[in-house]
Amino acid sequence: MTPSIRIGYMLGDGIGPEIVPVAREIVDAALAASGAAPLEWVDLPMGLPAIEEFGSPMPPSTVEALETTEGWVLGPFDNGSYPASWKAKGERVPGATLRKHFDLYANIRPSRNREGVASIKPDVDLVFVRENTEGFYPDRNMFFGNGEFKPTDDVALLVGVFTRPAIHRIAVRAFEMAMSRRKHVTAVHKSNVMPTVFGMFLEECRKVAADFPEVVFDDVLFDAAAAYLVRNPQRFDVIVTENLFGDTLSDLAGEIVGALGLSAALNASDTHAMAQAAHGSAPDIAGLGIANPVGMILSAAMLVEWLGQKHSDETLTRAARLIDEAVDAALARGVQTGDLGGSATTRQFTEAVLAELSAPGGQR
Ligand code: ATP
Repeated sequence: MTPSIRIGYMLGDGIGPEIVPVAREIVDAALAASGAAPLEWVDLPMGLPAIEEFGSPMPPSTVEALETTEGWVLGPFDNGSYPASWKAKGERVPGATLRKHFDLYANIRPSRNREGVASIKPDVDLVFVRENTEGFYPDRNMFFGNGEFKPTDDVALLVGVFTRPAIHRIAVRAFEMAMSRRKHVTAVHKSNVMPTVFGMFLEECRKVAADFPEVVFDDVLFDAAAAYLVRNPQRFDVIVTENLFGDTLSDLAGEIVGALGLSAALNASDTHAMAQAAHGSAPDIAGLGIANPVGMILSAAMLVEWLGQKHSDETLTRAARLIDEAVDAALARGVQTGDLGGSATTRQFTEAVLAELSAPGGQR
């Protein structure tokens, strides 16, 4: 079959070159198993190697090439290790550059228990719908420049930005997602301390809630949400929140169901989507062949599912489901990397997932 959909492919830093190729290999196998057309992968420079060659971890040539694609898989980046000359420029990190350029406003981060994986809490199945373009993250909330300032050496200021259109569209995403789940949306905010900002946040969420009468809507303070996630995470289905809160709480949720290495994420606009695992570049274990590829694999699966919806292509949707099921089956058989308490290498886990995909039971 001729490839029809162009997908960018960027390895990134740290464990990126170990986990991104694995995600691609597994996506290719799942597409073949589901009868979908192969994807056209477009290999692009990003991260430290791109600084060395082009002077930027997200060179303009990579951004231009991504414009010709519908989505991409982005490996993790380790901006802490970038040269001082790059840091002095005040450029955005690669993920933020792409979120800004492509207006990837919805960051979808699911967390659920997986059979055989030791977790802090059972029966968790929730998803964060995190606003990704403004809020308390100053690297993306300004039209020009960065929302952090240092008027004197002893004073540092930070601008938080909240707009009705951005809140509205992320709330719509959350309610739409709830319709295909347990029909419950919780807004996480801090309106007791920031009543102007989060009053508006809640107002917009309530307006959208009125358009989805089947969905139960409630709201929880940010700090209380952290406590509920530890004590009673089962109370959550879809959580809609601003940028920093969503980033923080979704990492917590990832650990509660197992480990950060399991956490998948998709960053989506209405036209493009970026698969980027929730974890970072894990430089402490880079090059050892022991990284957990699950977060990256499941992020790529989310991208395939998103493409399936966009193109109304059932074979893509099925491929995404096959990946999810194959990962579940491998984990349930006890093939787990060190972060989950197992002894499997990245390659051994990959082989286990590929075996599941090619097994007769994999052709669901
Ligand atoms: P960032 O700021 O880029 O998100 P970070 O410093 O917060 O990165 P990570 O790079 O995600 O953190 O790593 C945090 C810890 O989790 C490290 O000990 C790392 O080894 C571990 N870790 C993260 N991802 C994985 C993975 N995929 N497999 C195994 N361990 C991982």
